[in-house]
Amino acid sequence: MSDLSDFQPRASRFAVVGHPVAHSKSPQIHQAFASQCGLTLEYQALALEPDGFEQGLRNIRAGGFAGVNVTVPFKQAAWRLSDRLSERACTAQAVNTLSFEDEAIVGDNTDGVGLLRDLEQNLTVTLARSRVLVIGAGGAAQGILQPLLTAGPAELVIANRTGVRAQELAMAFAGAGDTSGVALEDLAQTAFEIVINATSTSLAGEVPVLPQGLFAPGALAYDLVYANTPTAFLRWAHDAGAGHTADGLGMLVEQAAESFWIWHGQRPHTRPVIAALRGAKL
Ligand code: NAP
Repeated sequence: MSDLSDFQPRASRFAVVGHPVAHSKSPQIHQAFASQCGLTLEYQALALEPDGFEQGLRNIRAGGFAGVNVTVPFKQAAWRLSDRLSERACTAQAVNTLSFEDEAIVGDNTDGVGLLRDLEQNLTVTLARSRVLVIGAGGAAQGILQPLLTAGPAELVIANRTGVRAQELAMAFAGAGDTSGVALEDLAQTAFEIVINATSTSLAGEVPVLPQGLFAPGALAYDLVYANTPTAFLRWAHDAGAGHTADGLGMLVEQAAESFWIWHGQRPHTRPVIAALRGAKL
């Protein structure tokens, strides 16, 4: 018979921290996962001041939280503050999932695997041997490059408004696959099977300045930004010849599912949650 005197109930307070964060869907997503898995948990959206991340995190940890998701603009700060890092967080140099252990803050990054699962499992896209274009070289691009390259594309081009950032990223990930970095204005009229917008432009209803002829027949245009109507980039891509378009809602739910797995050891079903969010017009 096991000795129940050693039994410790799992802490069940979680949050997403960011600035701003009130718009976050993470509380809804984690509650939907919890009810699927028969768990009871508390999950809040907590706004921290841009210069108050470290102190805010200390307060949250002292408040008995077991972990937090981290969103814009704190992913790099969370990476710096982690005592231990998963390999993927180490590579991405950004953290979106923190677990508070007794003696350590453990950082992970689930954005990349979230995108990969949305592309390969939900959208049934084949990355292997495809030509992939990633537009943007910020924190989000940094988090998705390693998993994309691991899937074995024929080539992966990174294009960014500030060209040098794209070139630096390409150099940093050169060991993981065939990748190159260019400035947006130097983007050749090559056709890609998968074009991923990892810039924040759609949030402002804008589109990066891009050449025509980017989409191979049947190509997918994917925007990391999600919205209840097609984003500016997806509207542009549709007119520019993309065969399919998808926004980042699936990635959001898939990255949350991976965080849920890290914290609770259970894998929730993501498709009903994506459908419910889509049906509720986000
Ligand atoms: P970030 O670090 O601030 O990077 C922003 C990127 O957008 C940079 O490459 C920047 O280029 C580019 N950019 C901004 N304005 C531009 C413009 N007018 N024209 C061309 N390029 C422009 O942001 P991030 O953390 O990478 O996040 C990017 C987006 O991904 C955000 O909107 C975020 O919401 C989304 N995201 C979604 C998920 C999801 O689960 N769906 C997960 C993570 C992130 P420069 O380098 O030239 O400034």
